[in-house]
Amino acid sequence: MSGLYVHIPFCIQKCDYCDFYSEDDKNYLIQDYLQAVIKELQKYKYQYNPVFDTLYIGGGTPTSISEKFLDFLFSSIFSIYPKSCFKEITIEINPETLTEKKAKVISLNVTRASVGAQSFNDDLLKILNRVHNSETIKKAIGLLRQYDINNINIDIMFGIPQQKPDDALNDLKQTIDLKPSHISYYMLTLYKNTKMYGYKLPDDKLIEDMYLKGVDFLNKNGFIQYEISNFCQKGKECIHNLNYWNIGQYIGVGASASSYYNNERYTNIKSIAGYINKINKDEKVIDFVEKYTEDKKLKDYIILKLRTTKGILYDDFKEKFKFDFKEKYSNIIDKLVKAGLSKEEKNSFSLTERGFIVSNKILQEFI
Ligand code: SF4
Repeated sequence: MSGLYVHIPFCIQKCDYCDFYSEDDKNYLIQDYLQAVIKELQKYKYQYNPVFDTLYIGGGTPTSISEKFLDFLFSSIFSIYPKSCFKEITIEINPETLTEKKAKVISLNVTRASVGAQSFNDDLLKILNRVHNSETIKKAIGLLRQYDINNINIDIMFGIPQQKPDDALNDLKQTIDLKPSHISYYMLTLYKNTKMYGYKLPDDKLIEDMYLKGVDFLNKNGFIQYEISNFCQKGKECIHNLNYWNIGQYIGVGASASSYYNNERYTNIKSIAGYINKINKDEKVIDFVEKYTEDKKLKDYIILKLRTTKGILYDDFKEKFKFDFKEKYSNIIDKLVKAGLSKEEKNSFSLTERGFIVSNKILQEFI
């Protein structure tokens, strides 16, 4: 199983919490950038001939580019890897940028749309400096439905400055009303290089409330939790992301895109112009590379598996790392189970909902 990720680093406005690589004033480079991305993909095909099961077009804001460029992007990718290669094709959508013409192009090319709503509270959207409001989100979902795109994820954030638990619950209620097949309900994290760094966030008790009540509400409304922040209707898990959590291989093309392939992890340079330049000169675009050692693999396995509700399956762990998880970590396991932060079943170990809230601290115990 392996995934192809395509990064589109253009946005119409930077959100104040955003830590992803994207630019809001480089639209004049879109055409050259897309051509460079396709060249990078062709190079991979020629050098390694990788096989992909999923395609994920993310950003940035893929829908900030015109329908003409979207069409070019899809048709160019599918001329290298035919559409039928992929079990799942996802595109990320910022509601403000979706038009009828773009929805039409998208409907012909994807199996899944992921809409970055974040909140239905216009005051909170302003704090985040999102470019859209709640009405725009509803219109965008309506447009997707109009073009028969019904496999829809909606991203909803909690832990926003000034947000109360009732606000978070209200966001989830409005999300459910739109009948998505998948919901990402995730906590806002502020990184140093963002404008919102240093803002006062809701305290730990409020965060816990927002998360636990949110999980309970989603469960009661038929959404099955399969990862710390991901919930879906039966059979609607995101296959592309499941591959990340299963430590599957993936290749990312485009500026700042990361890859894990042939036992190495690497990341491309974070510069649109620099990326285009290097691709056109046939130079390497990789900025950072690390060998994926057994030790690193073990740490990632524990971190990623404990994000999932299935957790660590003892047999699978032993087969991969040639030692017994339960034996090696018995003290930590006992302590966490007693504290109600994790649970053990016959052949598995996983975190409880309360454990998910403090997962960062728990993971440090193992690594
Ligand atoms: S739309 Fe997404 S990628 Fe663009 S600035 Fe906002 S959060 Fe970042």
